[in-house]
Amino acid sequence: MIGLGLLLLIIAGAGAYDAISSLLDAIGVHRPADDVLAASVIRMAVMVGACFVAALIIAFASIVFMRREFERRRRTEERLSRVLKTAEQAGDLITILEKRGRIEYVNRAVEQATGYTQKELLGKRSKPLVPWYPDEKTVQKMRVDVLSGNPFRAVLACRSKSGEQFFIQEHVTPLKDNRGNITRMLSTAREITRQKQLEERLDYLDNYDPLTGASNRRSFAELLRQEMAVLRNGDQLLSVMIMDIDRFKYINDLFGSEVGDEVLKRISETLRATVGKGDIVARLGSDEFGVIHRYGAHLIDTASIAEHIRRAITQKVMIGGQDIVMTVTMGIALFPDNGKDAKTLLKNADMALSRAKSQGRNTVQFYSTDMIDRISDFYFMEKRLFNALKNEEYLVLYQPYCDLSTKKIAGAEALIRWKSGDQDAVSPSKFIPTLEDTGMIIDVGEWVLRTACRQIKEWNRSNRNLSVAVNLSLLQFRHRNFIAMVSEAIRDMGIDPRNLTLELTESICIQDMDLTISLLKKLKQVGVSISVDDFGTGYSSLNYIKKLPVDNIKIDMSFIRDVAKDPDAASIITAITSLARSLQLTTIAEGVESEEQRNILHLLRCDLGQGFYFSPAVPASEFKKLLE
Ligand code: C2E
Ligand code: MG
Ligand code: MG
Repeated sequence: MIGLGLLLLIIAGAGAYDAISSLLDAIGVHRPADDVLAASVIRMAVMVGACFVAALIIAFASIVFMRREFERRRRTEERLSRVLKTAEQAGDLITILEKRGRIEYVNRAVEQATGYTQKELLGKRSKPLVPWYPDEKTVQKMRVDVLSGNPFRAVLACRSKSGEQFFIQEHVTPLKDNRGNITRMLSTAREITRQKQLEERLDYLDNYDPLTGASNRRSFAELLRQEMAVLRNGDQLLSVMIMDIDRFKYINDLFGSEVGDEVLKRISETLRATVGKGDIVARLGSDEFGVIHRYGAHLIDTASIAEHIRRAITQKVMIGGQDIVMTVTMGIALFPDNGKDAKTLLKNADMALSRAKSQGRNTVQFYSTDMIDRISDFYFMEKRLFNALKNEEYLVLYQPYCDLSTKKIAGAEALIRWKSGDQDAVSPSKFIPTLEDTGMIIDVGEWVLRTACRQIKEWNRSNRNLSVAVNLSLLQFRHRNFIAMVSEAIRDMGIDPRNLTLELTESICIQDMDLTISLLKKLKQVGVSISVDDFGTGYSSLNYIKKLPVDNIKIDMSFIRDVAKDPDAASIITAITSLARSLQLTTIAEGVESEEQRNILHLLRCDLGQGFYFSPAVPASEFKKLLE
């Protein structure tokens, strides 16, 4: 600057002298040729003067220029500091990178989101240059895009310093210098982890059941469509199984929804562990599950997996301190035989399920074309049952149980029938599940109990000491009024409570043993006898019976049926009778159909027997004849 100034000064001085000489020449002021010295002095003086003026001008110009420059810089710095302050406080992540990808600036939001400090990031030369980026390839792609003048936009799954995943929506633009060259890259990014999680959750909820993690109904249908599309060309077959957990409503009502939820989770786990690899498990509704099972060319495979599932689910489990017995009812439709599209297949599997329900629970039913009529019968039946009690359509039959050695009648079991219009009497296994589902069993059960009490009164008038056994449903047994209702019925009829026996199935006894024991103790105080019905079905241990205040064990008819030919059945019966003897309980064999069975059972030290061998269930009037 100073050199330039001096040069300008000399040029200006010389210029000024030349200009003044030319001016003097022009106006005729001639320089005397001999006055060279004077001329030189004048020349010098003019030169010095001109230089001085030029210096003054230059100094002035420099001051003005410097002041302006100073002002500009101050303003720039002020603006920069304002920008930085704003950037620091911004919620978005702001990063400035130089051309090679090295970080020059990060704001606080970057530090917060990534867990890296400015110090760790700025000027970093070693890779990864942007350590929170998913990978180095993405950094390079971003560089290539931006350095070729294009913005880079992406949603990235990043990792913080501590390894946590977070998502950003990033926008990187090139920064240019005055000459238009790209020197830097400016990245602004927004953290969208919550939004992403929400999206993922919504996506998840769209396809999965949040409680069990199994597919939901929507995705089940979609997966079925996909599976069918794959199989359409090949010779592989497929089956759709839809199943309902039996009396799940009671589990919820009796033990609370937390236990209910746990039951559903267990069932979902059991299903997943039981079905084949590649099979699909879904929760279709509150207690409804679905399975898409691929099977080769053999129907038998489906039948066996279905039975396998049913058995796996039918078990006693301990949940939330409660013993719970779960059973399942299942309907199955086959592709391509029972439907060529997903909708039909699902509908037909549903229909098979309804059919299975109408046959009592804990069963598996395949779809068949004649089902439609029978299903509508079932729904029709549900409607008609609502008025059955009022219309006096129920009746009670009595089946004797007899001494196995003397064949003398020791008592009777009251068995309900439903007879509406001119139809045949309907078996309780067909309509009791509906009565239980609808809660009608409470009133109907009370009616049976009172009818049985009236019968006890009548038969025992002639000083016979005959017992009548009445079956109970879980819902009745757990009903808050139950004990009071029993005592009231006994009191109203004026009977000896010892002549009334209440039958509870093994599965009812085992659900929440503590509650069962306390309820049974109260019933014992009323004075009634208790039988455990269908004993030996399903549960490996018989020992729980020791804890129950009961009087009789009714050995399930499945053992009796096989007793003559199956040594296992005989040894189970022996185990039961000796256990019963040690506890001073009476044993009653159910379903005795032949003299051979009666004889063996007697040898196995069973006390009483009930079955067609002695008599089927008959109306009270006929029973009276049997007594005589
Ligand atoms: P359960 O209490 O085990 O009753 C015995 C069932 O076996 C009766 O069927 C009876 O008819 C049948 N049975 C008797 N002897 C033989 C035989 O020698 N061979 C064969 N194959 N079967 C025989 P039922 O009357 O159809 O009753 C079925 C079930 O319905 C009963 O089983 C009982 O659990 C339930 N039930 C009946 N009445 C009532 C009721 O009033 N209330 C409730 N909650 N359940 C009832
Ligand atoms: Mg019974
Ligand atoms: Mg039974």
